[in-house]
Amino acid sequence: MAETDASRVVYFDHAATSWPKPDVVLDAMQRAMHDAGGNPGRGAHRLAVAASRTILEARGAVAGLLGVAEPRNIVFTAGCTEGLNVAIKGLIRRGDRVVVSSMEHNAVARPLNMLAAAGVIVDVVRADEYGNVDADAVELAVAERETRAVICQHASNVTGSIQPVGDLADIAHDAGAVLIVDGAQATGHLRVDVGALGADVYASSGHKGLLGPQGVGILYLSSDIDPDELVQGGSGGNSEEPMQPRLRPDRYEAGTSNTPGIAGLGAAARYLAVHGDELRVLEGELTSRMHEGLLGIEGLRVLGPLPGEERVPVISVVHERIDGDRIAFELDRRYGIAVRAGLHCAPWAHNTVGTLDSGALRFGIGYGLTSADVDYALDAMREICA
Ligand code: PLP
Repeated sequence: MAETDASRVVYFDHAATSWPKPDVVLDAMQRAMHDAGGNPGRGAHRLAVAASRTILEARGAVAGLLGVAEPRNIVFTAGCTEGLNVAIKGLIRRGDRVVVSSMEHNAVARPLNMLAAAGVIVDVVRADEYGNVDADAVELAVAERETRAVICQHASNVTGSIQPVGDLADIAHDAGAVLIVDGAQATGHLRVDVGALGADVYASSGHKGLLGPQGVGILYLSSDIDPDELVQGGSGGNSEEPMQPRLRPDRYEAGTSNTPGIAGLGAAARYLAVHGDELRVLEGELTSRMHEGLLGIEGLRVLGPLPGEERVPVISVVHERIDGDRIAFELDRRYGIAVRAGLHCAPWAHNTVGTLDSGALRFGIGYGLTSADVDYALDAMREICA
């Protein structure tokens, strides 16, 4: 039997939210609350100025980490979902056509389903059974008729597949379309250079691979696009103007910002700038170890790219007899291992890889895990699946 330490959580749910966070993230959040507790952009007293400075520095750190030359093109959001909604609803109009991959999360699928009901044409390009999007298939779809936007994830939260978003940027631009990328599973786990990728929009979560807290995300908007803002309200300046100022990033950040969350994300970005490469090497090793171990367990189907192929540190499995929810329950109850079973808010992706009915059991690997944790989880899986 795998040795159980009931007091310990062995956390394999990084694809949902990374945990734990580096201490510098917690410290920065506490400092923001304690030393910079004013309202950012509102007022000239020292605590308000300290809050503004906290956000300014965080924006610079995130822009630097992601290769974005102009920090004002980074908008802080409540998460990847909000960023994608701003981009999708702010850029796409009735009668426009969108080409989208079949691997998308509900953060893309649901806004598009809503727009489709309001007269937007949504054409879905099916990925292969491993969850890989084929750039040639997207190119063919785009060539069929005028296209306003191509939308694709950078990496899948179900299969871990890494999508060819650099190629998709060229395909979209050659056709006069914009490329919107959902980077929720890529940032932190991959070395992402948004400038070099050429995406017009790149949205991500702060709380996954970026190692920041929940409730904060990032939205990169290139200087060449001008989406409508989703929310209007106070922007801290130009209060006499009846309409939302067009100044970035204020235009897209109406209302009081999540200063502690942004402070935490800024600290996480600075942490990753120093330790990111080392962490990615470790994640790669742990992912390969987990992948090989899972492949050796009888009755398990391992989704996504084959061993040796590139993937982000996400591995989902389906057992031929035992329900994923049951395995997740046993892993938690008997072994203190946290995983996520079900559809992962991604029914399109599960449909693509043939697991819409069963769902899957997902291991998300990241900061804080060791090879001993992987071996412990594999032993637990062998016991439950025996
Ligand atoms: N897109 C993908 C691929 C995801 O995995 C997730 C979260 O699970 C999201 C979008 C939504 O991110 P957030 O929770 O930051 O809104």
